[in-house]
Amino acid sequence: MITCTGCALLCDDIEAIVENNSIKEVRNACRRGAAKIKGCSNRLVPSIDQKPTDIESSIKKAAQIIRNSKAPMLFGLDNSTCEAQIKGIQFAKKINAIIDDTSSFCQGMLIEKILQERFRTCSLEDIRNKADVLVYWGSDAQDSQPRHLSRFSYFPRGESRQRGYEEDRLAIAIDVRESNTAKICKGHFYRIPPKGDREFILALIEALSGKVPAYDTKKMLELAGILKKAEFGAIFVGIGLTYSIKDDFDILIALADRLPNFNIMPMVGHYNMRGFNEALFKETGFVNKVKFNGKAVRDMKYSIMESLNKKFIDAIVIVGSDPVSSLPGPVLSHLASIPVICIDPCMTMTSKIATVTIPCAASGLESGGTAVRMDGKVIGIPKIIQSDHLTDEDILDRLMEAF
Ligand code: SF4
Repeated sequence: MITCTGCALLCDDIEAIVENNSIKEVRNACRRGAAKIKGCSNRLVPSIDQKPTDIESSIKKAAQIIRNSKAPMLFGLDNSTCEAQIKGIQFAKKINAIIDDTSSFCQGMLIEKILQERFRTCSLEDIRNKADVLVYWGSDAQDSQPRHLSRFSYFPRGESRQRGYEEDRLAIAIDVRESNTAKICKGHFYRIPPKGDREFILALIEALSGKVPAYDTKKMLELAGILKKAEFGAIFVGIGLTYSIKDDFDILIALADRLPNFNIMPMVGHYNMRGFNEALFKETGFVNKVKFNGKAVRDMKYSIMESLNKKFIDAIVIVGSDPVSSLPGPVLSHLASIPVICIDPCMTMTSKIATVTIPCAASGLESGGTAVRMDGKVIGIPKIIQSDHLTDEDILDRLMEAF
């Protein structure tokens, strides 16, 4: 069995048929996972100023850039193993860098609240065995974590839910559009207007408190009735919800307080984003947006968005991430004007603007280790095939040796 690193569900029931050190067939994975396991077709090559070079020269040039930088940033590591993430955090500490990852513009703050034990949470196995009411809120698991419903939540039989989705489980979707997940939640789709989550939560709290909510009264009372009767519920929080409430989690905590039988779970995309958050939290007490300078300081201005916007950084090391494909244009103009060191197995939009590119082994395929699933469980990631590529952990080690 191998582990798929296609998303933070980290399915560890995957079979891969390997012939002549290449993947011939993948079984049990979803389409997205199978594509990930087969690896990228556009392999990154070492380069300096977009001209091909050898790996040693690219590492040497990267070390020189970092040495000359007065305000470096390390970004990414969400597609790296826990072992590489720890190395990255040590490296950021050593060079007094800002460190951040994609969680600073998705589920990071929710994970921080969970690590601070502000929310009740549970494992995905608990959900499979016990859950009777499942709420997908601002999250389209069918597209983003395609085996979530089939492995853990709606479809499987569980110890206390032997009759599965036919009789024992009820799935609810709350979203701005009828997503593929919402289509499965037969008759229990609650459409809300964009940015309408706060109003919806307040009305739901009123309904759960026995008051008559002003907002969509009939549907709200119906939903409150279902949630109150749940024996073991889960709210799967997607970025649709966290974006909408702008990381103001007090309102979600107030709702969770009204639902003592419910657990909160972040729907994480990148396979080891939670691993990064947990490792940085353990080191500094924060999950992202940290600057090391003798001590660790957290500030909004240390997010990649603000650091680029306010031009705080003069060099950046990006590991296994492609911010050029997701950050807004105005922010990217500063990124394009500073030295960018891109460490990745594959060519990306970010590698195309990088001053230095350093190819690494693809984790979950050419290198192994551990990762943290979306619910916090540590999962082993076996190496599947041999590769001559250095791992991202090796590269970070080599860069660290230069200081
Ligand atoms: S659900 Fe995620 S981890 Fe599981 S096989 Fe699909 S992509 Fe891979």
